[in-house]
Amino acid sequence: MPTTRDQRPTTRIGYGFDSHEFRRGIPLKIGGITLAHDKGLGGHSDGDVLLHAITDALLGAVAAPDIGALFPPSDPKWKGADSVVFLREALKRVRDAGYLVANMDASLILAAPKIGPHAATIRVRVAQLLGVHADCVGLKAKTPEGLNLENAAIAHAVVLLEKLANPKKTRKNK
Ligand code: MG
Repeated sequence: MPTTRDQRPTTRIGYGFDSHEFRRGIPLKIGGITLAHDKGLGGHSDGDVLLHAITDALLGAVAAPDIGALFPPSDPKWKGADSVVFLREALKRVRDAGYLVANMDASLILAAPKIGPHAATIRVRVAQLLGVHADCVGLKAKTPEGLNLENAAIAHAVVLLEKLANPKKTRKNK
């Protein structure tokens, strides 16, 4: 029997939400993938609504400060930033807390473009970023029926974390 009791819960859950407005003349990035479309998502960073929701879910799961607190839009450093940077910082905090990602599930709500043809590519990219198999990444896309939100993209994400048996032997996610 160990002399010090590990107080960490075996699993932890996290939830994240984000929304961005479509704007003409900028690239559309969703889940770390650039999609062909006549509009992109505005914002101080690259506007990747899905990676932002996942980042907040990871941070929330370990009760860390949220994405806006860690990467304030008022800081010129994050202008046009690749949102992968935010996700990697959240993953570092997850590992430092002694956890790994078990799975992630997300819903996207947007009128266009259709996500279906790109869903597999996005899932593979997100899985690679999270260090999990693609079958541990769920992605659903809905159109904003009755919401009058034709010019916005919304993302909801939940993550489940598993406690590492020995946090000091953590192998870094790529
Ligand atoms: Mg955002």
